[in-house]
Amino acid sequence: MKDYSSLPPVHVVLESTSGRLARERFGHDATVGAVRMILENERRLVGEGNLARSADILGGLVLAQLEKGAVSSLRPVLNLTGVILHTNLGRAQLPEVAIEAAVAAMRHTVALEYNLDDGTRGERDEHLRSLICELTGAEDATIVNNNAAAVLLALNSLACSQNVLLSRGEMVEIGGSFRMPDIIARAGCHLKEVGATNRTHRHDFEAAINEETALILKVHTSNYRIEGFTSALSTAELSMLAHEAGLPLMEDLGSGILTDLSAFGLSGEPSVREVIKAGADLVTFSGDKLLGGPQAGFIVGRADLISRINKNPMKRAMRVDKIRLAALEAVLRLYLNPKELPRLSPTFMFLARTRHKILMMAQALCEPVQTLLGQDYLVKVCELESEVGSGAMPTKGLPSAGLAISAVQKTASVEGLQQRLRLLPVPVIGRLKHDCLFFDLRCVEGAGRVMDALEKLKL
Ligand SMILES: *Cc1c(COP(=O)(O)O)cnc(C)c1O
Repeated sequence: MKDYSSLPPVHVVLESTSGRLARERFGHDATVGAVRMILENERRLVGEGNLARSADILGGLVLAQLEKGAVSSLRPVLNLTGVILHTNLGRAQLPEVAIEAAVAAMRHTVALEYNLDDGTRGERDEHLRSLICELTGAEDATIVNNNAAAVLLALNSLACSQNVLLSRGEMVEIGGSFRMPDIIARAGCHLKEVGATNRTHRHDFEAAINEETALILKVHTSNYRIEGFTSALSTAELSMLAHEAGLPLMEDLGSGILTDLSAFGLSGEPSVREVIKAGADLVTFSGDKLLGGPQAGFIVGRADLISRINKNPMKRAMRVDKIRLAALEAVLRLYLNPKELPRLSPTFMFLARTRHKILMMAQALCEPVQTLLGQDYLVKVCELESEVGSGAMPTKGLPSAGLAISAVQKTASVEGLQQRLRLLPVPVIGRLKHDCLFFDLRCVEGAGRVMDALEKLKL
């Protein structure tokens, strides 16, 4: 017996307690839209033989739906993946000083392109230029939206319609859509592949250089290593060769390392200063990888080349806004006193954490998490390996620790748990491997954060 007459009309749901609350918070039109949707669904249920629910209950559903729609999908999550600079989770967390600088720049007008000394028009990159030069040993610098833009802009400015030489061992793809050959083509340049995948020699480059050549490019193999029977030219060797031929050498470093990382047990990644010193004429790098700042791309190096880049109209399309410039400046200032980085920069704080420290956090969390998840799951402390992420040190793990969660009842699954964790107000993102859900605790400020997020599972 289908009784559609028991369905309350729209205006009655709108007048219910929750309906009124919904209108107050989300406005009349949005609420009416939600009421229509809920009633449509209810009509379908009645059609299937169910009894219509009261206007009050339906009003509650309307309010819940509007509230759900108002929660941003770009919300903070707990990164328990063990990847410090996780591209899909927004890479670096900014230092507090940078957040404050960004907030001040958002709230106020700032002297972005205004010279406070004499009231003339200024230049937005000027605020950071001397700082970057000091930290890298470069002559000049320019800043754009991200490192992909930096590469594109530099190539287009210096080698449009001409040849760019790149070793076949360095045809990098950085996840998704950034592929060196494609970027070179889109910059309007002709790629000349040099050498073989595993071996490229000096004579390969010499044979490839002709009057059409505008630039030699070296790309950091950020996310892979070629091992075995290999040969490649160092920055110093390539720069000598380039300069003998009267060509600039540009090196795309990816991660912008501005300080000695050996104190963190990380070695083998060249710093920007080292690459400049070795003779690269231009170096490009990211703001939100190991540098630990907001998304940005830097081009540093010879002043005459930077000047040509700044004259390219594409620069205007890639420039950064006041908010990011303010944050970047604050991050760069931290490098003037690198000893303090582990205290002030979350990226360095996470890098510096020892397995011992992380293990203690895991031990403190094990029992409360087990109690929370109940008999369906088994929670154990385990040793793990974290990664730097974003194409830094791809083959080197950082000794870490955390929790391993497995399902012990047939009715439970780790995939199901993973889904529930994703739906939390502060979603908890772990790593699924071998039927086990791992929580790597390297990148959380404290055990309390994890418990606060997980508590909501009970509801
Ligand atoms: C990461 C990376 C890029 C891209 O940098 P974004 O800041 O993500 O645009 C380019 N080149 C290399 C070598 C990289 O590692």
